[in-house]
Amino acid sequence: MESTVPNFVHTTHPVTVPPLANGREIARRPVLIAGGGPVGLAVGLALASRGIAALVVEADQTVCVGSRAICLSRRTLEILERLGALAPFQEKGLAWTGGRSFHRSEEVLHFTMPHDQDQRFAPMTNLQQYYIEQFLLDAAAKCDPDLLEVRWGTRIDGLHQGPDGVVVELATDTASYATECDFLVACDGARSRVRQAAGLRMNGTSYEGRYVIVDIEISLDLPTERLAWFDPPSNPGRTMLMHKQPDNIWRLDYQLHSAEDSEEMIREDRVTPVVNAHLAMMGIDRPWRLIWTSMYRAAAVSLDSYRSGRVLFAGDAAHLVPIFGVRGLNSGFDDAFNLGWKLAGVIARYSPDTILDAYSEERRRAWEVNVTNAMKSTEFMAPPSRGYELMRDAVLSLAKDHPALATLIDPRQSSAIAYEGSRLNTVTRDESSFKAGPRPGSPPLECPLIVDGKKHYLTNILGNDFTLVWSGEGDVPSIVTDELHRVINRELSVVLRTIGTAKLLSDTAGQLQAWHADVAEGRFIELYDAAPTAAYLFRPDGHVCARWRTLRPGDLSDAIDAALGHRKVANS
Ligand SMILES: Cc1cc2nc3c(=O)[nH]c(=O)nc-3n(C[C@H](O)[C@H](O)[C@H](O)COP(=O)(O)OP(=O)(O)OC[C@H]3O[C@@H](n4cnc5c(N)ncnc54)[C@H](O)[C@@H]3O)c2cc1C
Repeated sequence: MESTVPNFVHTTHPVTVPPLANGREIARRPVLIAGGGPVGLAVGLALASRGIAALVVEADQTVCVGSRAICLSRRTLEILERLGALAPFQEKGLAWTGGRSFHRSEEVLHFTMPHDQDQRFAPMTNLQQYYIEQFLLDAAAKCDPDLLEVRWGTRIDGLHQGPDGVVVELATDTASYATECDFLVACDGARSRVRQAAGLRMNGTSYEGRYVIVDIEISLDLPTERLAWFDPPSNPGRTMLMHKQPDNIWRLDYQLHSAEDSEEMIREDRVTPVVNAHLAMMGIDRPWRLIWTSMYRAAAVSLDSYRSGRVLFAGDAAHLVPIFGVRGLNSGFDDAFNLGWKLAGVIARYSPDTILDAYSEERRRAWEVNVTNAMKSTEFMAPPSRGYELMRDAVLSLAKDHPALATLIDPRQSSAIAYEGSRLNTVTRDESSFKAGPRPGSPPLECPLIVDGKKHYLTNILGNDFTLVWSGEGDVPSIVTDELHRVINRELSVVLRTIGTAKLLSDTAGQLQAWHADVAEGRFIELYDAAPTAAYLFRPDGHVCARWRTLRPGDLSDAIDAALGHRKVANS
């Protein structure tokens, strides 16, 4: 095992207890993050990038051990780049675009996830969760320690909310103390202690189907893709899934029959024959080594609200989705990136605290969309009743000859969720004139651009705060620059990117941090329906908050005000 699983998985981090006065930590930070899993670390990085100090308390003394997330979506990589953590994910991760499904011995589906030449990242990248956590910790280590501290071996035991903050009870194996913060972000996972202490419950559906999750080490010269077998000859009646991971690790997931005992079926002597039979069916005759086995049962549950006063919930502490849609951790990163700029705005006092309700509304709605898709996958992978099973078998039998049915076999959803109808969007008078391009609330639509002769992408020219992308001919009209001057004197920056032949007059360029970008192959104009003119406003997490054909005085500041939660702009 030592040869395959990297050393940092077994590295025990020291536990620290800070200076105390009367059992209370002397220092007080704006934000305390419960849980140093991937979502807690991502929230910490998002806040640090905005100069907001956070303390992450983590009950364990190591990164996670065992079979957890492996599939990271394209949107997650975009977020990781904005958090300053991307490079090792790309170096170590295995990118992939599709997969194959088999019914008994026959291949019935060869699918490709949405992917085209405009994309920068593959739809999915496989990487073990212990690497994910370590790479986030490496990024955290590069932050100013006053901005981001990770305190190991420290668990949250309780909390008391007051009007100005939260008092949190912490415990190590040898000490107990309290600490104070303005806001507590609960990222302490599916069994969240914070959720219990706040007296909250998740509601939804739990599934009967059980899956054995097995990670094995085996050297196989096979491409990275998602492989699924329904009722294979090697293991009749089961559904088997197979995923490649770095370091010659392969993940096998298989469904248990209802009469099989969970504890018994994850024992090595019960797992080995299943794996041997499966590899033999694939024509593989090579030695392999068991790394980990565990049991998984799907649940689609969520809190009604991800905000309870000064306590915010993110990741598995807020919601669970069945793993077959691979939206658990990916949606946790979306939570973190969505919450980071909003919470920073409240702490820095340029947003009212009601923007935190918008965080909850946007992300709870995203959970509903994720769950609708993930439930379809789950019902297909582990039919909850005889009726579902008959339907699934019928689809599988017919899929080869009726390709339209094949899409039912893999209803996986790999794209980010749009915040349609969010109170932070502005639907402008020009909205109906756009025949393409992301609508208000949508995540950024990737698009190649050439900047100063070098290839870039839209997602890597977005600024830290708001970005206005202006497309048109000739000089950027003074109304655009006047509008920008109105807003840049506030606490937030608004970066202007100009597309095509649009040019800024030199005397206005400096202060506006303008960056003139020539369009590669006309893709922005086409993808964003940006001719003859268009202005797209992107909010700090890259989602579009408004778009116009022409700007009028007050348009930009009104839309930024709305996106910062100050008021609902009347749709015109
Ligand atoms: C087998 C399996 C496969 C999966 N595959 C995928 C996939 O491919 N893609 C995907 O997107 N998702 C996947 N998931 C889901 C993914 O693992 C989770 O969604 C993800 O781990 C959630 O991250 P988190 O930070 O919210 O919670 P966690 O990862 O659970 O982290 C919570 C942290 O809080 C700490 N903690 C707990 N209690 C306390 C306390 N009282 N005080 C302080 N700290 C505490 C824990 O030690 C832990 O480090 C999979 C899950 C499983 C089980």
